[in-house]
Amino acid sequence: MLRTRAYAAHDATSPLAPFEVSRREPGDHDVLIDIAFCGVCHSDLHQVRNEWKTSSYPMVPGHEIVGRVVRAGPKVTKLREGDLAGVGCMVDACRTCASCKRDLEQFCERTPAWTYNGTEMDRKTPTFGGYSRAIVVDEAFALRVAPGQDLASVAPLLCAGITTWSPLRHWKVEKGDRVGVVGLGGLGHVAVKLAASLGAEVTVLSTSAGKERDARRLGAHEFAISSDTAAMKKLAGRFDLVVNTASAPHDIDRLLGTLAVDGAMVLVGVPPEAAKVSAGSLIGGRRSLGGSLIGGIAETQEVLDHCATHRIGADVEIIPIQKIDEAYERMAKGDVRYRFVIDLSTL
Ligand code: NAP
Ligand code: ZN
Ligand code: ZN
Repeated sequence: MLRTRAYAAHDATSPLAPFEVSRREPGDHDVLIDIAFCGVCHSDLHQVRNEWKTSSYPMVPGHEIVGRVVRAGPKVTKLREGDLAGVGCMVDACRTCASCKRDLEQFCERTPAWTYNGTEMDRKTPTFGGYSRAIVVDEAFALRVAPGQDLASVAPLLCAGITTWSPLRHWKVEKGDRVGVVGLGGLGHVAVKLAASLGAEVTVLSTSAGKERDARRLGAHEFAISSDTAAMKKLAGRFDLVVNTASAPHDIDRLLGTLAVDGAMVLVGVPPEAAKVSAGSLIGGRRSLGGSLIGGIAETQEVLDHCATHRIGADVEIIPIQKIDEAYERMAKGDVRYRFVIDLSTL
């Protein structure tokens, strides 16, 4: 076993604190990654605070991991010692079910091994995430990271990137399509960049008037405040696709009104409380409401490669691990421009 320094939550209310985790000795197909940066996703906050009622402690959060391979098992072919690598929300899956065979490991019928707040596929060994110095992962669940990029800005692509890329691809967004992005936070700001890179005409629907200038800088063509009735009326029937990243309860019906005929709104944000939806918001215009969960490993590699080619990275604020609770407080208030990323050399 390898002992690794980490930061953990021990319950839903205390600050995170230094902790030590054991990582397995790398096996034939494993890589040991020395973690450089780990993004701070709102899902970390939901789970640290047990807002989804699925938390087990101690919990070492973090699923936007980038670093360098320092050891590779003898049968590893995808990566070599010295390579840059990433780990996202999953560290394993059954690899044999219908979903796994379709490269949709996130929907593994046996439930994937989530990177933290979960277990390995033996269903016994707890998993610990990226708020730590090192991680051991099967190469099948490690991603290649092209050199020459700002590593801290790559980290958020491992969750925020793939989570917003996957619906854009599944709903086949292409040049000229009209895409709305609800919520300009970690996921939302990457969604704007990705949708714009596909040639879409992007509008940000936000609750924060102060984010307009940033939205336009990030690639949005328009910006509207979702509580502004007149502005929303102007957007009625506009969008082919709305990617909804809001992390807290909000008026879904109001947003559905912005969809064109046959348009779809895809929920990626996971507010802890259930939303209310009126049938009338959907049937007029044959609109649909869907959801999407991260993306498979092959698609995660696709978004990393797309971002390397198009020079897309997250806008990050780098923090030392000791500031994690402060970062959570700010994230809860919507005060993040636009992703906190932990520099693990501070641990
Ligand atoms: P974040 O950085 O905190 O951004 C969330 C944004 O939502 C905020 O910046 C804010 O944008 C908006 N918002 C907050 N409260 C709102 C409210 N009451 N009404 C409307 N909008 C509100 O969070 P994130 O890391 O992007 O994550 C967003 C959500 O996605 C979280 O629930 C997270 O758990 C979930 N998530 C899901 C997946 C998946 O696979 N489906 C993956 C990762 C994360 P404005 O200021 O612009 O309004
Ligand atoms: Zn996440
Ligand atoms: Zn499976």
